[in-house]
Amino acid sequence: MPSTRTLFVTSELYPLIKTGGLADVSGALPTALGALGTDIQVLLPGYASVLDVPLGWRVVVAGMRLVPAVWHMAGVLEGQMPTADGKQITIYAIDCPPLYRRAGGPYQDANGVDWADNAARFALLGAVAAYLAAPASPLAWQPHILHLNDWQSGLTAAYQHFMPEVTAKIVATIRNLSFAGDFPATDITQWGLPASAQDIHGIEYYGRASFLKAALFYADHITTISPSYAREIQSAPLGCGFEGLLASRRDSLTGIVNGIDTKAWDPANDAALAAPYTRADPSGKALNKDALQARFRLRRRARAPLLGMVTRLTWQKGADSALGQARGWLDDGAQLVVLGSGDPGIELALAELARNYPQDMGFIVGYDEPLAHLLEAGADAFLMPSRFEPCGLNQMYGMRYGTPPIVPATGGLADTVTHAQHVTIEDGSATGFVFDADTSQALDTAVRQAITLYAQPKQWQTLMTNAMQRDFSWVAPARAYQQFYARLRQQIPGEAAITSSAHSAARVRPQVNGKRTA
Ligand code: ADP
Repeated sequence: MPSTRTLFVTSELYPLIKTGGLADVSGALPTALGALGTDIQVLLPGYASVLDVPLGWRVVVAGMRLVPAVWHMAGVLEGQMPTADGKQITIYAIDCPPLYRRAGGPYQDANGVDWADNAARFALLGAVAAYLAAPASPLAWQPHILHLNDWQSGLTAAYQHFMPEVTAKIVATIRNLSFAGDFPATDITQWGLPASAQDIHGIEYYGRASFLKAALFYADHITTISPSYAREIQSAPLGCGFEGLLASRRDSLTGIVNGIDTKAWDPANDAALAAPYTRADPSGKALNKDALQARFRLRRRARAPLLGMVTRLTWQKGADSALGQARGWLDDGAQLVVLGSGDPGIELALAELARNYPQDMGFIVGYDEPLAHLLEAGADAFLMPSRFEPCGLNQMYGMRYGTPPIVPATGGLADTVTHAQHVTIEDGSATGFVFDADTSQALDTAVRQAITLYAQPKQWQTLMTNAMQRDFSWVAPARAYQQFYARLRQQIPGEAAITSSAHSAARVRPQVNGKRTA
């Protein structure tokens, strides 16, 4: 079958615009899918920081008026962005300066206040995505699949639902259910949707209209970023009010664990490290431990078990629960280093602990990417006591750097870390320490288990090398998404029968609401 044409719709794309993990995923997953043969292109808003990057932008659609609430003239520009694997990927940027060309972030102004017109800004993203998949689209390239990401592109699914001529299937990936993208329900007709969409069987969410609900209700398939999280969000509290809908759609809900950037996170080739090392020759790891102890001004004790944390200091990440136990670990000879910022109360408590144990506990407040790399390399074990974790990246970095993670059995942590016990160490499957997320004592037990095993160098070495050989690249996740695309494409009328590449030739489409200028 000719390759599946997929439009990846996103509000962030590394390296053009980034506020969080969505940008990294948008930068990596389409590249990995392209390498596997998917014909994938990316659509995003034309923020200033996007259009100011010279990607050979040219106008391919001009003069669209799609969303009454804004009713600005919008166009689509096409550019070619170099990818990490030395190729290029086609980027479509929505050109609508009144909505997107402004100083500040993609969602908020410079003071951290949400843009007042966010509904209109991301309604336009959804409307353009659906329009580019419609027979009326002036583009020669018409997607079989629209891959939506989080609430910002969620309204695409509602537009598609009310445009029966759009045959493209929708995959919606949800990373964070706590951002519902909800706005006053009175606005929905201004987004060009019928009033009937404001319904429990539609985009209604506790009396408001939610872009995320549009994706969860109308998408043909929903994915989230780990199988365990996919189960957890089918009930409260992690379902964030969507649990009933998600449970009813469980046959169309799948968890696929994210990949990591294995080039940026590679202990054999990482400029932030004091020394490189590999699974075959991990000797350089000791130099990184020494450098990390020096950086945090700790005693340079080569054989003390050194626990590390890199984290946002929020309730979700559970640093406060580790604090409750840490004195005991330090009293018993362990060391602890923490890099992070966030909740002032947690920051204060960590600083106090560091004052009480100046030689064995170090805390650096802030966000420091190179130090995060050194910490992953120099620590002996990586502590990540999250209360919930849709996927998590740090535990995967830890394993890749031979720093076994200590994690609760929740979300992506449960799905990526295999608990060390005699059998799993011997059969090569153990990669870290997994404790029962609901028991407060369990964290302490897991840490002490790690400390005990660390005192047995041969066993610890086996655990380290097991962890280092796990494959966390984007190849496996991309294959999983590709399978969904293929399955959904089969459901498009006429597609199941396609076996020859003759059908992949672009169709000539009538021009309805915008002219082709390419
Ligand atoms: P989340 O995205 O929920 O914060 P993840 O584990 O998925 O948690 O990813 C966190 C990412 O942010 C990792 O790449 C981690 O190294 C990085 N990070 C978090 N806090 C800091 C910090 N203080 N300094 C440097 N990097 C940080």
